[in-house]
Amino acid sequence: MKLTFLGTNGWYDNKIGNTVCSLLESEKYYIIFDAGNGIYKLPSYIKSKKHIFLFLSHLHLDHIFGFHIFPKFKLKNKFNVFCPKGLKKDLMKIIDHPYAMPFREMKLKTKIEELSKDCRELPFPVECRKLYHIDPSFGYRITLDGKTVAYCSDTGVSKNSIQLARNADALIHECAAVPKLVSGKWGHSNPEEAAGIAKKAECKKLFLTHFSANKYMTLKDRRRAEKVARKIFKNTIAARDGMALNV
Ligand SMILES: [Zn+2]
Ligand SMILES: [Zn+2]
Repeated sequence: MKLTFLGTNGWYDNKIGNTVCSLLESEKYYIIFDAGNGIYKLPSYIKSKKHIFLFLSHLHLDHIFGFHIFPKFKLKNKFNVFCPKGLKKDLMKIIDHPYAMPFREMKLKTKIEELSKDCRELPFPVECRKLYHIDPSFGYRITLDGKTVAYCSDTGVSKNSIQLARNADALIHECAAVPKLVSGKWGHSNPEEAAGIAKKAECKKLFLTHFSANKYMTLKDRRRAEKVARKIFKNTIAARDGMALNV
């Protein structure tokens, strides 16, 4: 399965990145985690008619601002957007007049749905659990082509992240805070905390993403976070926009 990072910033764009969006390409499907500004690059990565599934973690603007860019997309793929239970009403309020073009007026035909508790409506195994964040935020565990990928953003240290990432081939975890900084009630993670989750979950690889735009101004800052995390969990990679690799 191919993993491509379209956006790796938290909060806002800066000169090294756009806000969060990760793309997985499996044999049959495209999977997208979150719709930050990085999603504007999506059409250059969609080379086939495969069904697209987008999973939203929560409604903070850095994770949904990309819907504002959707009117430029001319993709013909089937496109399903899934959000955790209870969030659809607010999402539909934000992506509507007078703030943005509503989904119903876009050329790209999307279906917006809330996930059921066991996610049985998906054609592949999906697990969704609540994370630790100031507003309701949810993480995912997805299995496709014999590989398991967990996505946890935004969150502070959470037992549910360990559950989602247990023995996963890859954990994509947020790293909004710089080393040693503890984020408190907002619920974000520093590299040591993200690495601690990966270690406890015994997953194979950890990708750090969602680097706060005001704290990670250069790629060197990200490499420093990667170095700190590697002391706890060796197989850590600090993601950057455009990075693509096989999981
Ligand atoms: Zn965020
Ligand atoms: Zn958030």
